[in-house]
Amino acid sequence: MSTTSFLSNRINNLSESATLKMTKLGRELAAKGINVISLSVGEPDFNTPAHVKDAAKKALDDNYTRYSPVPGYPDLRQAIVNKLKNENGLDYDISQIVVSTGAKQSLSNVILTLINPGEEVIIPTPYWVSYSEMVTLAEGKSVFIDTDIESNFKITPAQLEEAITPNTKLFMFSSPCNPTGSVYSKDELAALVTVFEKHPNIFILSDEIYEHINFVDQHESIAQFDSIRDRVIIVNGFSKAFAMTGWRLGYIAANKEIAAANDKLQGQTTSGTCSIAQRAGIVAYEQGLESVNTMKEAFLRRRKLVYDLLNDIPGVKTNLPEGAFYFFPEISSFFGKKDPEGNEIKNSADLALYLLNFGHVATVGGDSFGNDNYIRLSYAASDESLIEALRRIKEALTNLI
Ligand code: PMP
Ligand code: GLU
Repeated sequence: MSTTSFLSNRINNLSESATLKMTKLGRELAAKGINVISLSVGEPDFNTPAHVKDAAKKALDDNYTRYSPVPGYPDLRQAIVNKLKNENGLDYDISQIVVSTGAKQSLSNVILTLINPGEEVIIPTPYWVSYSEMVTLAEGKSVFIDTDIESNFKITPAQLEEAITPNTKLFMFSSPCNPTGSVYSKDELAALVTVFEKHPNIFILSDEIYEHINFVDQHESIAQFDSIRDRVIIVNGFSKAFAMTGWRLGYIAANKEIAAANDKLQGQTTSGTCSIAQRAGIVAYEQGLESVNTMKEAFLRRRKLVYDLLNDIPGVKTNLPEGAFYFFPEISSFFGKKDPEGNEIKNSADLALYLLNFGHVATVGGDSFGNDNYIRLSYAASDESLIEALRRIKEALTNLI
């Protein structure tokens, strides 16, 4: 990592987001006229539903153009409370909801709110790129629990127990998981809860942004367990469920103290998020899940497509993801091989760069997700793009010697 002396240690110690970096490199190559297929950034390839866009246009006409309350408009927070009740069976009050500029800001707010320098945050690997970097920013210490394809990328209660120390403050995970697609069942969550019950000072950050893209079951939130409920912070948002990545709308549901602390933090940093996005968010939640279900059907079809194509590439090993829209195949059998120019592929980042420069497919190396033996592919792309991307990947991997 390069350092520049006049920048803060905080920034010099921070890595660039790998998902955004690979997407940027892909765009730069495309700007040179090269046909690049992007499977790097995880965002639905659908447009925001028309009724949500109409609500934003109306918000402008109705002059929702001024500062909004820092934790969000009360009617948006009420719509979130209603959603949590109706879809998840969870009771919250609007004082427990804080709306932010994307789930990313919500996660960062929560970490800054809870973590003192040196306190430990347990993160199962593979994890979403920004988790460990957000912990670093807060001067906390990430403690990783490793999983692999054999365990379907899920941790056991024994692994959790073993990772806990007197310094543990927070456990954070996503289910459905980015980057593996793994989904914890209610029984698996219940087993982890028995461990948390023994450690009453640990908070649990539950990132549920992919809740609607679940192919195995209904969504199960760890907040449903009353014994730990007060220590669970749910993070969710509109980016994935309503194809609203550019709108920047996310939220937390947490105990009142944590919600008030997030409100205070946000009041000194960003203030309430975009007024227009918030008005549109109300309509998204009030009008139901029809558009989400259409997207989910497409993701299910593409999952099968990509699964079959990946299984057809010698040296690549994959499981069948249960949710989200990513594959996280094992690719370490290619390490030590050389590209046509003689450069050795030493790790997953090298392989991702090779696939970009020689195969013209943007992916992300698994090292940024905490496991170097894998790469991540997003299958939120058209069927035709996926077929062509997997053909290129197969060809590029076969050309390694
Ligand atoms: N959590 C996970 C697991 C994600 O994949 C993303 C996607 N960017 C986010 C949080 C942040 O989502 P957003 O800021 O777009 O709401
Ligand atoms: N969640 C997406 C991803 O993992 C968006 C990119 C980002 O915010 O890092 O690719």
